[in-house]
Formats: sequence, structure tokens, C-alpha cells
Amino acid sequence: MSLLVVGSIAFDGIETPYGKRDRMLGGAASYFALAASQFTPVRVVGIVGDDFTAKDMAPLKHRNIDLAGVEHATGKTFYWAGRYNQNMNERTTLVTDLNVFANFHPTLPATYTDSPFIFLGNIDPTLQRSVLTQVKAKPKAVGLDTMNYWIERTPAELKETLKHTQILMINDDETRQLTGEHNLTRAAKMIFKMGPKTLVIKRGEHGALMVHDRFLFSVPAFPLETVNDPTGAGDSFAGGFMGYLASQKNVTEQSLRRAMVYGSVLGSFCVEKFGVERLTRLTRSEISARARLFSRLTAFQL
Ligand code: AMP
Repeated sequence: MSLLVVGSIAFDGIETPYGKRDRMLGGAASYFALAASQFTPVRVVGIVGDDFTAKDMAPLKHRNIDLAGVEHATGKTFYWAGRYNQNMNERTTLVTDLNVFANFHPTLPATYTDSPFIFLGNIDPTLQRSVLTQVKAKPKAVGLDTMNYWIERTPAELKETLKHTQILMINDDETRQLTGEHNLTRAAKMIFKMGPKTLVIKRGEHGALMVHDRFLFSVPAFPLETVNDPTGAGDSFAGGFMGYLASQKNVTEQSLRRAMVYGSVLGSFCVEKFGVERLTRLTRSEISARARLFSRLTAFQL
């Protein structure tokens, strides 16, 4: 079933101890869409400038991602640059030039208004909500990502949007900040009162934890020998998770558990190369093979 994502489309400049790239396709929506398109048809709502050419769009086009909802505005595309330290645990943001992204008002083409699965990427919660109000039929599942900036500056708007969200996907710091509660299990209970009934806590190299109001599930990050660039790992995780879920008949405990594994699989592929390089060359059989490795990695008998 179709999965709509709204979020940033960017040019990224990335520096890690293993290399450097400038002005490559980036943005949360790009990573998400590339990952999710392995499982289900994806529709993107975003904005780019007039410097964004057909060649820049090609990696998304090649994966048959629907780009009818990408607005081409006059001006420059959002530009973000970051540098990682030696052990890749810390990232310094060097540049955030919002450019046309500063005036983004998501508008859904008529062909998008029946989207049964929706992912609201990390943008202003009021804009996230405006996407939901444009969707005609009640979605089967709405996922949401946010960050400290919105938790601090627009808490009331964020809480309003969360009322209409089933799956919240954030990291551990954001979970603590949103609830004011350090213990993640207790924090999850507070989040359930805000709307979502599933909280997915992304923990980078420590994997991910899902707290549902009836069960808990945890996946490790896949142990890799080579990590070249962690950029977009969280967005790829979200794309793998939501993409897999949208490919299933129903959202059940089992499909949510498998979605966690596919999220982790896509996040692990993303970091192997720079930016979106690995995601653009990924095959379904590589994904299945790594999912089987995950199953072996976490299997044990009592
Ligand atoms: P992550 O590594 O998951 O934080 O995602 C990195 C991606 O997020 C990059 O491709 C950036 O272009 C994009 N990004 C960085 N800052 C922002 C922002 N303020 N709003 C939306 N997207 C952003």
C-alpha cells in the first residue's frame, strides 16, 4: 500500500574520517524514500530549488518513487553540511542553509490524498499536521519524527500533531526531553497518553527499542566492520520500518517486530557508504540475506 512521506530534500556536504563529499543528494525524505521503496510504493512531499536538476533527482526516479508532490521553487535547495569526529559518535553541523525549505508549505497532489500510510518527517509540527488535514480517508498508520528544536520551541503544536499519530520514532534524548522523564519505559507510558501507541526509540549504534502499550521489542544495530558515514541512518531506519509495515496486510505485533528488523537492516546498509550511495544500489536479495543474519544474531534457546 502507498506510503506518503513529507520531509527535507537537500544537498548535503559530509566529512567523516573516511572521506568527504560535497553537494550530494540528501535530506530526511530522500533517505526515507529510498529505503521504503524497497517494500512499497512511496510518494514524496517536499521542496527543491531551481538548482536541483533532473540528474539530482535521478536516484529517486530510478527507484520509481512518486515525485509529483515535490515542489520546484525559485531559489536554492536546502543545504546542510556536517563533520564527524574520529569515532563517528559526534557530529558537528557546519552549515544549515534552509533556502527554499524556509518557505515550505506542503501541498498534496490529488493523487496523494488517499495515502493509507503516512510518515511525517522532522519538520514544523504545524506543517506535519497540515499534511494530515489534506488526506481524505483515515490513514491506516501515521508515523512521526521530530527533534529537540520543535520539542523546545513548539511543544503545544507538537502535542496537537501527536494526537493524530500512532507511531512515534525518535531517539532516547528526544524521548526524555519530550516527557521530562529519564526512564524510557516510564517515558513511553507518558507518550501513550499523548496519542501514539507505539514508540520506537532509535539508539544509533545501540540499535532500537520498541515500546508498545502491550509489548516490548528490541533490535541491535547490525555489527559492521566498515562504517563510512552515519548520515541518514535514522531516516533509513524509519523508511525500512514504515515501508515494510505498509507492505503488510495489517499492522500486528508480528509485523511491527519484523518492521523493527527491516528498519535496522536498512539503517545498517545506509552507513556502509557515503550519503545515499549504498541505498541507491541495494537489492531486495541483499536485504533478505541481512534480515536472516539478524534472525541468527538474536536467536537463542531457553
Ligand atoms: P540524520 O543523520 O538522520 O540526522 O539525517 C541527516 C539528514 O537530515 C541530512 O541529509 C540533512 O540534509 C537533513 N537535515 C539536517 N538538518 C535538518 C533540518 N533542520 N530539517 C530537516 N532536515 C535536516
